[in-house]
Amino acid sequence: MNKIIIFRKFFQPGNYLIILFYSMELEKLYDKALKLIPLDEEEGMALYTKAPFEELMFIANRLRQYHNPGKTVGWMIDRNVNITNICFSQCTFCNFCRKKGSQDAYITSLDDYKRKIDELYTLGGNQLLLQGGMNPDLGIGFYTNLFRKLKELYPSLMLHALGPPEIVFLAKKEGTSIHNVLLQLISAGLDSLPGAGAEILSDRVRKIVSPAKATSEEWLEVMRVAHRLNIPTSATMMYGYIETQKERIEHLIKIRNLQDEKNKNQYGFITFIPWPFQDKSTALSKKYGIRSTYNPPDYIRLIAISRIILTNIKHIQASILTVGKETGMLSLYAGADDLGSIMIEENVVSAAGADNRFSANELQSVIKEAGFLPVRRNQKYEKI
Ligand code: SF4
Repeated sequence: MNKIIIFRKFFQPGNYLIILFYSMELEKLYDKALKLIPLDEEEGMALYTKAPFEELMFIANRLRQYHNPGKTVGWMIDRNVNITNICFSQCTFCNFCRKKGSQDAYITSLDDYKRKIDELYTLGGNQLLLQGGMNPDLGIGFYTNLFRKLKELYPSLMLHALGPPEIVFLAKKEGTSIHNVLLQLISAGLDSLPGAGAEILSDRVRKIVSPAKATSEEWLEVMRVAHRLNIPTSATMMYGYIETQKERIEHLIKIRNLQDEKNKNQYGFITFIPWPFQDKSTALSKKYGIRSTYNPPDYIRLIAISRIILTNIKHIQASILTVGKETGMLSLYAGADDLGSIMIEENVVSAAGADNRFSANELQSVIKEAGFLPVRRNQKYEKI
């Protein structure tokens, strides 16, 4: 009886018209998305928040097939080494950084690099993801010497290193331009620039969680210059804390707009990688009670809307390290075509609670179990 009353109430003529209106609007947006017509903020929000889950996945999967036809899924072997854990920025979501003088503060020694790179080569990899804190004592000379030394010792080593906040910091510290810092790093051996430190490209959010770090316009400017210098880059998003859904969509549109500025023959952003905030023991969670809002369906929706909005970025990577096996597998049906790296020794997100780990064999098994064909690639997304 109750069910009949609810049914009658819901299917009032007015409600029916609202449903019809929404589904007509969604149909129009699906059509636009499938024609690769860039969606504006309002249209992106409408799809992100109103499209039924399976329809959003379907559209994103069709676009994945457009950009990367077939059943292959990329993965790679690389190693994360943190240059230093001393960082003046003290972002409230970071459980990795230390203040200068802390008992466990460090700057990685050359002997440690050698040991870690030897292990990486033994496992068949040749790329280092070099990241760290913004240590006020380390200037551009420290990084150029380090890169040169590593390349001299290991000529085939690929350096995927630093990120826009470090580049902005070095430019300010040295009183020089972003262009000059990047030129010096490239000439010392930098091969590609990670999209680290993007978090959410909204200064409202950044002022609250990472006020000492590069602003959103500074982050974009570093990438703009990197694209002009034709060094491959990636774009990222760390979400799931204090940002709004609208700010997530704005972030995607800022990335797409910047990618539009590059020439056809420049690398630009090769991939986009969203991952959720890990809250374990972070100041954001301990001091301010802000917990990660991550949940798997929301991640899948974000992967899908990223594929739909980012009409000009070929690869979408699911962060299996932070979301785990099942969500990573499902992402491959929602627009993602890559599961990233086995990432030997990741310290930053694991310090905040991401404890998923995969060997090379395990990662390939996950891809096969999801119904795809694993293809090992390098940082330029070239098959190796
Ligand atoms: S997230 Fe990066 S910039 Fe922020 S405190 Fe940690 S190491 Fe420093």
